[in-house]
Amino acid sequence: MFQKIIYKNSPILIQNLLISTRAIIRLRLRDNTESKCFLKRIENNEYNKNTLDSYVESELNSVLINAVENTTFYEEYDASDLESFPRLTKESIKADPSGLRSKNKPKVIVNGSTSGTTGSPLMIPQSLESVVKEFAFVKRLLEWAGYKKGDKRAWLRGDLIVPLEQKTGALWRYSFFEKMLMLSTFHLSTETMQQYIDKMVSYKVDIIQAYPSSIVLLAKFLKENNDYYPSRLKSIITSSEQLTKDDRALIEERFKCKVFDWYGLFERVAAISNCEHGRYHLLTDYSYVELEHVSDEVYEIVGTNFNNKYYPLIRYKTGDQVVLSDEKECPCGRVYPIVKEIKGRQVQHVYNTNKDKVFALDQCVKEAKGIIGSQFEQFKYGEITIHLIINDEFNEKQKTIIEKAVKSRLGLEMLVVFNFVKELKKTKSGKSIQAICHIKGTQ
Ligand SMILES: [Zn+2]
Repeated sequence: MFQKIIYKNSPILIQNLLISTRAIIRLRLRDNTESKCFLKRIENNEYNKNTLDSYVESELNSVLINAVENTTFYEEYDASDLESFPRLTKESIKADPSGLRSKNKPKVIVNGSTSGTTGSPLMIPQSLESVVKEFAFVKRLLEWAGYKKGDKRAWLRGDLIVPLEQKTGALWRYSFFEKMLMLSTFHLSTETMQQYIDKMVSYKVDIIQAYPSSIVLLAKFLKENNDYYPSRLKSIITSSEQLTKDDRALIEERFKCKVFDWYGLFERVAAISNCEHGRYHLLTDYSYVELEHVSDEVYEIVGTNFNNKYYPLIRYKTGDQVVLSDEKECPCGRVYPIVKEIKGRQVQHVYNTNKDKVFALDQCVKEAKGIIGSQFEQFKYGEITIHLIINDEFNEKQKTIIEKAVKSRLGLEMLVVFNFVKELKKTKSGKSIQAICHIKGTQ
């Protein structure tokens, strides 16, 4: 919506109304009786191991039976034996995307795509049931973070709510019904940071939901000025990128509240959430997770989706890793296993035409077809190279789509250079990273 001409050309008040209307439509769809009942059901799992175990067993059984009975991809497998199922990868889904669709087509299908950290887009259709259940899990996380109905929130995530052409004035918008102040991460710079903090204080924000990379910039700014967030916050919720220990400590120190970090992925095959005691809990009622040994204490997350029977993903290899904890019990009393550390999800930045850092570039290739892999590399200000691995579906139109998306995020004057490759550059640990920046930054 934010890139549509009608939104960009509207006065701020109308933009606020458009954002609020969109929010209320989305809420109507998600926040219904079914979602509330489901939330109650998963809340019963939190403190009772027997209830949790029987919930997991019944969900896993029903997912496997559904997959074998209703999809061609899984019809040959034994529903009573998870181990007989193969590991699923992004590539195996792409090789047979329709094989995973259930014969039972739901009335409403929500199509979404992700490119993840390796920059290779993947389309995953979801049933409405999946969307509603996801909402219940998000609500549970909000509750863990102290959210109560009526609380005000600030939103500092990668939405293009303020057009890039706008350089001054209000760099935020409002979602009235959600009581949410949405601040543009694309306009976050040393010149604007004090305004962002002042705005959140005057709006009386209770909880901030942010990308780690955005909120840590504000924490660093406060530290440089020998300052602290001058008001009381209940908590800060972060997700979508790796949150380092140092960044968490700095955010908690400068904002004087707890950080609740959430790990999830669009494939919805695993979720890990912080509790109020700072432990990471692997949410075993969200999906069925198998931890596959990589090295020493490091394990890869391989997950089976519980809630999207229209497109069942079984034993999906996420490429993300965790370090297990020695702790068997958490002071919070919840019975979910504890994870010491989440690896992966490291998101690198590049610089926009204002020489400010921009993260989450995977969004730029989401809309284009025919992309097997993508990677951004920047050698100098004002120019960005996109390395692309493509297939036959890619054409000039896709190039235009990507160029437009890149310019909308990095600035209209950004020079976009395409480079078609067979392989993306890798880190020492063999991971393809989304962005490589060779500029020594100003921030
Ligand atoms: Zn806990």
